Amino acid sequence: MKPETPTTKRRFGRRKVCPFCADKTLYIDYKTPSMLKRFISERGKIVPRRISGVCAPHQRTLQNEIKRARVLAFMPYSSATAD
Ligand SMILES: [Zn+2]
Repeated sequence: MKPETPTTKRRFGRRKVCPFCADKTLYIDYKTPSMLKRFISERGKIVPRRISGVCAPHQRTLQNEIKRARVLAFMPYSSATAD
């Protein structure tokens, strides 16, 4: 008995590469919320690295910039109605 879920399990072979490492011209900046929005969920939460494929240092930068954008009201905080 093996707990296999072939439908959701991602096959090895196509490693997701960090979009910021792949594209050096892509700059993480709080002044471009349209770009940052790609990395937050509908509820305004920051998408985890596992899903977005962003590497650790870039994820950290991203988080900082998103937070900055939020402070400056460029982006929403997580919709605080429910959890
Ligand atoms: Zn990266």
